Amino acid sequence: MPDYDLAIIGGGINGTGIARDAAGRGLSVLLVEQNDLASGTSSASTKLIHGGLRYLEHGWLRLVREALIEREVMLRMAPHLIRPMRFVLPAEPGMRPAWMLRLGLFIYDHLGGRKILPATRTIDLSRDALGAPLKGRYRHGFEYSDCQADDSRLVVLNALDAAERGAVIRTRTRCVRAERKDVWHLVLEIRGRRDVATARALINAAGPWVGSVSEGMLGAPPSGRLRLNKGSHIVVRALFDHDRGYIFQISDGRVVFALPFERDFTLVGTTDEDFAGDPGTVAADADDVAYLCRAVNDHFRTAIAPADVLWAFAGVRSHYDEGSARPQDVPRDYVLALDDEPGAAPLLTIYGGKITTYRRLAEAALAELGPVFGARPAWTASSSLPGGDFPHDGVERLIAKTCAAWPFLDEAHARRLIGAYGTRVDRILGSARSPADLGPHLGADLTAAEVRYLMAHEWAQTEDDVLWRRSKLGLRLSREERGRLATFMAGAIGNQDK
Ligand code: FAD
Repeated sequence: MPDYDLAIIGGGINGTGIARDAAGRGLSVLLVEQNDLASGTSSASTKLIHGGLRYLEHGWLRLVREALIEREVMLRMAPHLIRPMRFVLPAEPGMRPAWMLRLGLFIYDHLGGRKILPATRTIDLSRDALGAPLKGRYRHGFEYSDCQADDSRLVVLNALDAAERGAVIRTRTRCVRAERKDVWHLVLEIRGRRDVATARALINAAGPWVGSVSEGMLGAPPSGRLRLNKGSHIVVRALFDHDRGYIFQISDGRVVFALPFERDFTLVGTTDEDFAGDPGTVAADADDVAYLCRAVNDHFRTAIAPADVLWAFAGVRSHYDEGSARPQDVPRDYVLALDDEPGAAPLLTIYGGKITTYRRLAEAALAELGPVFGARPAWTASSSLPGGDFPHDGVERLIAKTCAAWPFLDEAHARRLIGAYGTRVDRILGSARSPADLGPHLGADLTAAEVRYLMAHEWAQTEDDVLWRRSKLGLRLSREERGRLATFMAGAIGNQDK
């Protein structure tokens, strides 16, 4: 008997989404992630749950429609992590004419599934307050709907739900080899120690590493043509003081977003260029930062320079490509390749995908494996992720309830905790009656109680896991505070080991 029905390589959004779906269908699942959950591309996205307005130009209607429908499915699944957002699209003199933008937005509004999100409206940027942060050349603009998400927490909550449904999630566990017989034999490396596991079927969900895992570890060259491209973002102090995002048309044909981020900041991105090499080494370089600063300075009245950048990060998109000339033209859809050679255990390889469509990708992956495991009904469309079991428009009520139950919390702290943990906030705050009951403060509003929760339930092991992937408090802690957090976590691990 193999140890598991299904083994999955990769703890990004696609691997954890499949693990959750499979565990919920009653399969025994092992997921291995070589670093932390979401340490690859799934923490480096623009954090939009969107149809992809730009993709309409490419005629990728199937992708746009699926993604548009998925926005509201996900909003209901995780209303704490996913927020509706309005986007301001200025008509740019000399670029796509206003009628074309309006037509695109009409299609975007009506292509699929919009029940909660409001429709597009036209704005006069010379009068509307939304035009005030922008350069004076803008007159016409549009405001349309999409959503913003916390990408890495979405990954962690999928892993958490998978684990609560019986999946085994092993982080800092690298698959170094997998031998294919009538079952898969996986060789795993955990901090220099080796372990083995067997499974009836294997999914390669290694994102931009999918090719190197296929060739290097599975001994099977990837069946598809994989194209990698890099996208960078910068974070600066808030460039405007409202809750809408901006989407700008750039003269190279691309678009750049400037989005409200973590209350006090603006997230700007992204670049799009071909990438070669180890995706683990990707970083925003000086040219990327300069490009994004220029994009800000071309559109906003406030000018920024590279020295104003508080955080820059980059990720690698991986796509199945038929030979597009420019990186921005590479299809953003996903492709699933099933290798079900008779007599050998099946292998499913995942190419591409978006955060927005991960749930549908997981359903499609399990449909591919249907002949192996037998038909088991899909279930995730009407499910909640941990902490998301409240109405999609109930965030403010939950914040008010939290402030009433723990009156020593200030509103901003309650808002951050609800945004991260939703209805599970009580698992951190417990019976606390005063700030002191949450243990030592570790910088900004981070408390020992929260860090202990993250270590016990969300696989956090290092300060980066807490500061950049379970939260974005890395933007707020000083170097000294980070050091204190590292010491606190090392002590907590020491105590766990005793
Ligand atoms: P990853 O998240 O990269 O996960 C793969 C994992 O596999 C990694 O964590 C890696 O460590 C692990 N792994 C590799 N090899 C091994 C091994 N041998 N053993 C164990 N583990 C291994 N999508 C949207 O919907 N909205 C957006 O706004 C958006 N913006 C984007 C902006 C940029 C710049 C980029 C790059 C992408 C963006 N995307 C967006 C796309 C989205 O981020 C990706 O499609 C998605 O994160 C891919 O997830 P994944 O699980 O396939 O890959």
